[in-house]
Amino acid sequence: MGRSTSTPADPEQGTAVVCPQCDERVAVSAPDTEVEPTVSPSVAAFGEHSVVHCSAGHKFWVNYC
Ligand SMILES: [Zn+2]
Repeated sequence: MGRSTSTPADPEQGTAVVCPQCDERVAVSAPDTEVEPTVSPSVAAFGEHSVVHCSAGHKFWVNYC
């Protein structure tokens, strides 16, 4: 069977972001499905954001704007 080279869609609900340090996919719960989560190494000065920890223990922020 063929295997797509593109990233398969995550069947789970919510959005997944990639850890900037190890490329680990981490599921996040976006407050609004219409906003695009943006990974940031530091906390946002404003707007919706949440702290995310990947399975490797890296800490980063996801901003929703
Ligand atoms: Zn990581």
